[in-house]
Formats: sequence, structure tokens, C-alpha cells
Amino acid sequence: NVSKQEIDTTIHRRQTRPVKVGDITIGGGFPVVVQSMINEDTLDIESSVNAIRKLHEIGCEIVRVTVPSMAHAKALAAIKRRLNETYQPVPLVADVHHNGLKIALEVAKHVDKVRVNPGLYVFEKHDINRSDYSQKEFKEIGEIIRKTLEPLIISLRDQGKAMRIGVNHGSLAERMLFTYGDTPLGMVESALEFIRICESLEFYNLVISLKASRVPTMLAAYRLMAQRMNELNMNYPLHLGVTEAGDGEYGRIKSTAGIATLLAESIGDTLRVSLTESPEKEISVCYGILQALGLRKTMVEYIACPSCGRTLFNLENVLHKVRNATQHLTGLDIAVMGCIVNGPGEMADADYGYVGKQAGYISLYRGQEEIKKVPEDKGVEELVNLIKADGRWIEP
Ligand code: SF4
Repeated sequence: NVSKQEIDTTIHRRQTRPVKVGDITIGGGFPVVVQSMINEDTLDIESSVNAIRKLHEIGCEIVRVTVPSMAHAKALAAIKRRLNETYQPVPLVADVHHNGLKIALEVAKHVDKVRVNPGLYVFEKHDINRSDYSQKEFKEIGEIIRKTLEPLIISLRDQGKAMRIGVNHGSLAERMLFTYGDTPLGMVESALEFIRICESLEFYNLVISLKASRVPTMLAAYRLMAQRMNELNMNYPLHLGVTEAGDGEYGRIKSTAGIATLLAESIGDTLRVSLTESPEKEISVCYGILQALGLRKTMVEYIACPSCGRTLFNLENVLHKVRNATQHLTGLDIAVMGCIVNGPGEMADADYGYVGKQAGYISLYRGQEEIKKVPEDKGVEELVNLIKADGRWIEP
């Protein structure tokens, strides 16, 4: 028999090392960080600055940009400067590719974090169209990668900046595919190889991601990574995401299925919801996932019944009106329940309740206490008055 008190409903996050990215910290018990990426061409300084600012203003805490050429890397210097002059410093992360180590070194001077994809570190002589690898050869390639990456790692280490080791299921190096197959294990080993190289150079500001477009694959990869890191006494934070999740309702469901499942299992320190829509659309989904899991509270929590034959008013309309009137009151929980039968019991945790009482009337609750019965057409106004009387109202 487990008593009610013994059931802990809080998600206790996996303990991770804090990694600074500009003025934001990923891991180390800090709130799960929201990220997104701009679509603009980084060479277009003005548009990029505007897009970064727009995302940051709506809650994107780290903004990613792509850096396909040296010219793009240099443009980041101007973007960073413009942001500092006209807005404020925004933590930036740059995506760079293997054959651009010089590009990575240049961009590392201007951004706070560099993302590398281990799958892109392939070497034609060793890595293309091969069907076998000896252990010796496998190690030799690892050594070539180490030498290639070394200047970037040292630069980031000495500047106190961060690196994301961003493995993608769709782009594993051939030698990993040959040795471990097209599997979560291959993804994890790919990340571990890069982690070991960084650690050999005493660089620990690492964030790891293992994205896949199939939810079961990414779930298995992140779970295995968390388990392996525990076994190896590594405690790097994890960046969660489902790649190519698509758009619309299913894109959101798919992203949530992957990201929220892991967060609920204590895995994950930062997230990006990748939608085939404008990046601003991703931010509210990220915060919605975090709020639903009780990991961050950035908006009013509405508890509303689905309505049924007992419902005494048009619940959809009323919820809409209540939301319009109160959605700026971050921190409150407000319940809208169709009837008295199940209403008060099921909204027990809410700060305020709006509950159908009898035809034409609703009851307003503070916590579990019924405060007053009012005509339905005055319901929203009276709810606002009650919140005001309690000193919990702020002007929108
Ligand atoms: Fe129906 Fe009342 Fe339950 Fe709402 S709270 S679903 S109206 S029984």
C-alpha cells in the first residue's frame, strides 16, 4: 500500500554539468532551455539580426544560425556587433561542417557555441565505400579526427565557449554504420568518440544531441546515451529534438511524443521543436511542453473539462473569453468547469474556478472555496474582479 504522500509527482532531472552559452546555462539544474534556428541567409546581416531579435523577444533563449562558408562566418562578427549595439547580446550557436575547419575557427570567435556533426567527419581515403574496418583502422581514423578537431576544441576551451556534438541518425559516418549498424548504438558511439577527443584536451563545455526523424529511434538513442554516460561518469547535458518532424498538428504531436517522453524520464536540458513552419511557431510549442510537464511555468495554466450533457454553458466560448481576459497573468491556474457535479473536485489545484451552477448562473471559486454565484453573462467580468480584489491582477 502506497499512501498518497509517498507518490512524488515532480520530475527530477538527471544531474548534469552546467554549460554556459552566452548568459544562458544549459544543464546543472537550470531550467530547460528553449532554442530555435533562423532561416535567413547569414550573409544578409540586417534580416538575420531582425530574425534573431524577433525569436529572442518571444522567448527563444539560444538562436542557431547556419555557416556554410567563410563569408558567412565573418558575417557573424557583424551580426553579433549589430545585436549588441541595437538590442542586446543574444546567445548564438553556429552550425559548421567538416570541410570547413577554418570556417569553424573563424566563427568560434563570434558565437557562443559551435555545433559539429560527427557524421560529417569522413575522410575519403578511409571512409568512403568501405565494407570492412579493422579495430586498428578504426582507431587510426579516430586519431585523424582528433587532429582535425584539435584547433577548434582548443579555441572554444580557451574562450570558455561551448560545443554541441550533434549526431544525426540520417548522417552517421560509414565506419560507424559498418561497425554498429544504422542503430542508436552507432549514434551513441559516434557521440562518445567525439566526447573522448574533447576530454583528452580537457574541454568539457559539451552538449550532446542524438536526433532522428523517427521517434522510437531518437528515444532509444537518448536513453542509451544517458545510460552510457552514467556508466562512464560523464554528465553532459542533452539537447533534445526530433528532426524533420514536419508541420501542423502532427509535427507538433511527433515532436512532443519524442521530447516530452524523455523529459518525463528526467532526460534533457535544452530542446528545439523543428517545424516546417516559421521558427517563431516553435517557441510556444517548446514552452507548452515544458509547462505541461511542470518543468517551467511561463503562462496561465487552464484546467477545463471537455464538456458533456451536463454542461450548463457554452464551454468553448467561455474558455475562450476567460483566456482572452487572463492569459497575461503568468503564474495562475484557472479552471473552467461545465457543472458542479465533477467540477470543484477536479479543479482542486486551481487558484480560481469558473463553474456551471444552474441554468443561467455560474459559481466563482478561490481554490476550493465557493466565493459567489453570479449570472452567466457577468461571469468573466466577476472573475476578473475577484482576481483584482485578491491583488493578483496585473494590467495587460
Ligand atoms: Fe460534464 Fe460536469 Fe464533467 Fe464538465 S465537469 S465534463 S460538465 S460532468
